[in-house]
Amino acid sequence: MGEVTMSKGSFWALMFAFLGTTLLVGLLCGLLPNRDADCTIKVTEEPEEPRSTSSGPTTPPQLWEKIRLPTNLKPHHYDLFFRIDITNEEFSGTNTMLIECLQSIDIILIHSKLLVIDDNSITLAQNGGGGAPGVTRSWLYPENQYLVIELDGMLEAGTSYDLTIAFSGPLQEDLIGLYKSSYVNKDGDTKWLASTFFAPTDARKAFPCFDEPAHKAEFTVTIENEPGYFALANMPLDGDNETIADGWVRSRFQKSVPMSTYLLCFVVCDFISEEKETQGGVQFRVWARPEARNSVRYALEKGADIIDFFEDYFQIPFPLPKMDMIAIPDFTAGAMENWGLITYRETALLYTEGVSSPRNKQRVCTVVSHELAHQWFGNLVTLQWWDDTWLNEGFASYVEYLGVEEVEPDWGMGASILRMLQNFLGEATFKKGLNSYLTAFAYSNAVNGDLWFHLTQAADEDGKDIDVTAIMETWTLQMGFPVIDVTRSYGGNVEYSASQHRFLSNPDSEEQNTYPDLGYKWYVPLTHTSSANPNFQGDQIEWLNPDDEGYNKDIGEGSDSDWLLVNIREYGYHRVNYDANNWQLIAQQLEDDNTVRKRRVDCELNL
Ligand SMILES: [Zn+2]
Repeated sequence: MGEVTMSKGSFWALMFAFLGTTLLVGLLCGLLPNRDADCTIKVTEEPEEPRSTSSGPTTPPQLWEKIRLPTNLKPHHYDLFFRIDITNEEFSGTNTMLIECLQSIDIILIHSKLLVIDDNSITLAQNGGGGAPGVTRSWLYPENQYLVIELDGMLEAGTSYDLTIAFSGPLQEDLIGLYKSSYVNKDGDTKWLASTFFAPTDARKAFPCFDEPAHKAEFTVTIENEPGYFALANMPLDGDNETIADGWVRSRFQKSVPMSTYLLCFVVCDFISEEKETQGGVQFRVWARPEARNSVRYALEKGADIIDFFEDYFQIPFPLPKMDMIAIPDFTAGAMENWGLITYRETALLYTEGVSSPRNKQRVCTVVSHELAHQWFGNLVTLQWWDDTWLNEGFASYVEYLGVEEVEPDWGMGASILRMLQNFLGEATFKKGLNSYLTAFAYSNAVNGDLWFHLTQAADEDGKDIDVTAIMETWTLQMGFPVIDVTRSYGGNVEYSASQHRFLSNPDSEEQNTYPDLGYKWYVPLTHTSSANPNFQGDQIEWLNPDDEGYNKDIGEGSDSDWLLVNIREYGYHRVNYDANNWQLIAQQLEDDNTVRKRRVDCELNL
């Protein structure tokens, strides 16, 4: 998903690590019903006497009173038609859904928000012919943003049905769902466009749908728009545009791959583009308003290279025939990773050589890399539900840096939990596990534990005894990170002892531990070097385990004047505090050894 603002990737890695709960609450708030907004526009109301016959306190909630859709029905395909009238600020459409019944049921629940549903348009037929129950009535339940369709008989398990619904809605400048946007050209004229922003739960504001990330389906989209505009969607056009009555234009797009509703996107605009082909043959275009033509080249060049990089890194080709990235003048988030049609705020996509700042360039590269990473991690494999957002965003925020490092190698990379993971597994094992995970769950959904399982399996295959699940649970389920207290010996062999405690910026603060079993102890991969035998590779890892007491490491011969450094290259996601004498020894090296100095300054600033 996009970022509202953005500075450094490491900042986001930290944000998602430490504020994951806050973010989650924010997302879940998006799922909560907005009763006032919905009630202003609904055309049908919940019947005054719902079908329940008893009302005692033990009555289980009705299906529509539950926030999650029942699992009886599974959508496979949406045939979507939209007529988007920018001038009159409205849209209308029809949606024919191919639905498989997994368990018999005599009611259909489908998400719908702020839409006007034509009740008489709702038809149900058995796919391929045969009987189907009739629709007795339909009504909206705005509290959970449902359209409830009651039937006069049961849908049969194992049977597929075609459900058709006609709908319409206002095209407003409200930045969510299908909305109207604008920009002012150099002559001072306001120009209009229509765009979408469906994450996490606003596809239902553009068309009735099973609007949960696990309900993946294929989409065939047809759009009609006024003359002077053209339409873009997730997939390429299926044949040429057609001019219809009144000069309107009809565009039909190829059927999509199976995908979640929140990743659907379409835009009606008058923009221009620059394009190139990736090494793998993907048509890659960057779109902007006509006067920004000179600002799309950087994103185009870097984006194409990053697609090449991720195809190689994940060992999975980009799954769509084309990729469009478009700068939307009105956009709340930084960007949104819609599959094959990524939308950006202008400042996150456009860069003008000699005019924009270096910081702006870095932002464009980072955000483009982040959104392209999501095309695999998030779009191809999607998390089951929004509570797994940490992994979705944390992972994209990590691999975005791999992409940036590939195309802008001088920019460096911040510390992150996933960088630590890659380091202790080794890059080859890490990549093997990712490929295994992405292949196993392609076009489907996964939960956090699935990735850890596949990485553990890859480690096992490579002869490494690493329980990724146990390790990563200490890093992802509890907030914060540890400080490692290192005390070394003097006189004779050099040994050091290490213990861990939770890092607190305010040591007096107390927070409730959500996972008391973990006790704010982590599996910490330790690396070290010393002036007696300097080695900054960081490939010799020793584990400090959560229950380790009296951890002691003999690092061999050395003198009392040798400094000791722990956590080489900051691969470990932790801080280090040394005994006073070792701090002194490190300090003595400051004039000579820039590497040591940087690490020391970092540590001292935070302890
Ligand atoms: Zn994201």
